[in-house]
Amino acid sequence: MEKVIFIKYGELSTKKDNINFFLTKLKDNILFVLKDMRVNVSYDLGRMFIHTDDDLNKVIERVTNVFGIHEINVGYIIDSNDIKDVAPQVLELLKDKEFKTFKVETKRSNKKIEYTSIELSKMLGAEILKNIPDIKVQVNNPDILINVEYRKDNSLVYFEKIKGLGGYPVGTLGKGLLMLSGGIDSPVAGYMAIKRGVKIEAIYFESPPHTSIEAKNKVIKLARKLAKYNNDIVLHIVNFTAIQEEIYKNIPHEYLITIMRRMMYRISAIIAGRRNAKILVNGESIGQVASQTLTSMAAINEVVKIPVIRPLACFDKLDIIEIAKKIETYETSILPYEDCCTIFVPKHPVINPDKGKCLEYEKLIPYEEMIYKAVKEHEIIKIEEKEKKEFEDLL
Ligand code: ATP
Ligand code: MG
Repeated sequence: MEKVIFIKYGELSTKKDNINFFLTKLKDNILFVLKDMRVNVSYDLGRMFIHTDDDLNKVIERVTNVFGIHEINVGYIIDSNDIKDVAPQVLELLKDKEFKTFKVETKRSNKKIEYTSIELSKMLGAEILKNIPDIKVQVNNPDILINVEYRKDNSLVYFEKIKGLGGYPVGTLGKGLLMLSGGIDSPVAGYMAIKRGVKIEAIYFESPPHTSIEAKNKVIKLARKLAKYNNDIVLHIVNFTAIQEEIYKNIPHEYLITIMRRMMYRISAIIAGRRNAKILVNGESIGQVASQTLTSMAAINEVVKIPVIRPLACFDKLDIIEIAKKIETYETSILPYEDCCTIFVPKHPVINPDKGKCLEYEKLIPYEEMIYKAVKEHEIIKIEEKEKKEFEDLL
């Protein structure tokens, strides 16, 4: 009997013609997070197996953070799908387990087997009762749940289920560019896009000296948290100081944020195009601040053609915070370093910006040249979950 980790796919199994594409990617992503370990991964349309003589707990801990997995199980492969062979092996496995009550649950992916799942459960249950004294069957809340899957050429036995993150394997849906600020929302938005299979690159607008190195390091730290789910992450750092100062000097202050965000969108769209990212992703949430009213979002969004996905659009802040805590970005996000928006926030930002006025005001600054320069000079770094390659330059 080989002890093995295996994976159930969940939503992935609804893919028909292109399921192999998803499964190959899932395998690659699993191998990526286990790259320093001795493992071998194999799969069929129902299950993916991780064979290893390395530390099982470490493998499980890492695989738990991979998207596209419904459930992770540690179990045993029995080289037969005949209950006559399976029963003694299950009894052997139960030898070192303490329990008073049990239940058998059977799955039969091999429909050629002559018994139904219920019959197989009963037969195995009877065999266990016959061989182990002082135990009984209990349907609800048994001390031990004995899962058996009868497959085409073999069987699987397992006792524990670990919930996976669900979603799609990262990369299966192409690439997106996440507008990543130091706040609470955008890392959560990134996480949710990654969960749907989108491989993320991130873009951060900094305005030194108005924003500090600590603010930038905070964003790098947040990106590193996302790298855990994204395999690694490319971060684009755009110097926004000149544009922001020009806006501040020349444009009526109630429109500062609207115009500033239109510039951010324009730059993000250009960089997304260059990096073959098909969408922008950001942490906007309807009504959260003046720039996130429906009229504001429309006035800002109109400067780009690329689709803008806002995973948090309809989330309450408290729900966002809950996810931020779960993915461990919250503690970093609440560190008190200013980002470039908070410094230039006007007292009374416009809530219903007029698109015509936006265009009129933008004529007051040479923004096309400035955008060109900001894009041309921007810094690119690749961030891995672990710190060592942090400042590896990609250019
Ligand atoms: P909080 O989490 O506190 O709401 P925030 O950064 O989300 O902070 P906003 O200023 O409302 O707050 O920004 C809305 C969205 O715009 C962010 O979620 C992020 O996607 C994007 N954004 C804001 N500032 C920046 C920045 N400096 N660099 C990159 N993206 C930014
Ligand atoms: Mg926000």
